Amino acid sequence: MTIETLSLKTMFAAVAAAIAADRDRLCALDGVIGDADHGIAMELGFNAARDAVAGLGEDADPTLIFNTAAKSFLNAVGASSGPLYATAFMRAGAAVKGKPSLSDADFVAAFQAMAQGIRDRGKAEPGEKTMVDAWAPAAEAAGQAIAGGANAADAIAAAAAAAAKGAEATSGMIAAKGRSSRLGERAVGHVDPGAASAATVIGAMADSLRTSATA
Ligand code: ADP
Ligand code: MG
Repeated sequence: MTIETLSLKTMFAAVAAAIAADRDRLCALDGVIGDADHGIAMELGFNAARDAVAGLGEDADPTLIFNTAAKSFLNAVGASSGPLYATAFMRAGAAVKGKPSLSDADFVAAFQAMAQGIRDRGKAEPGEKTMVDAWAPAAEAAGQAIAGGANAADAIAAAAAAAAKGAEATSGMIAAKGRSSRLGERAVGHVDPGAASAATVIGAMADSLRTSATA
């Protein structure tokens, strides 16, 4: 399959809708081990990204779409998730620079660049109870799937399953990064909100790719 500008715009809209539907749960998770704003931050960020990319012309290439999403997300979000997702989108844009549309392998390369961008920006390693615990296994699963001959929709579906599993596993972790690191052992038994929202984001990306693949 080939992922066109229109599919990327649709994907941002799909992620914004999924995050809006999940907003209250994400705020509740953040309420337990943070400051209860994570669902609001993610909703503001993805709504801004959705609107900004929707305003681009049909001739916008994938890099412009990702860069525009990055800028608008950063401007809309004051919380730590702002620079983390902005860096993710900037890196995705850089990974596919010069390409008018994306092949399956290009899309997965952009996806892996997002995960790496979050990791670099936050300086978090897996096991530190952050969104990296969803993004890192997701990137690995997508890479394995594409290497095994899967298309982008199936690769990101595998990533979504890995992200959901990774998010669940944060419950058993002590946080080493972010606001919840102040809680020490008291954070154990609670899922990290950023990992939970990452699973929602990646799940919506997978659904959107599946829909555009069969359209
Ligand atoms: P804030 O903590 O500023 O209120 P949010 O509530 O939007 O920001 O996001 C909190 C989430 O951000 C955490 O659950 C965690 O997943 C993620 N996070 C925080 N710091 C880092 C970091 N250094 N690296 C990666 N992710 C981080
Ligand atoms: Mg918060």
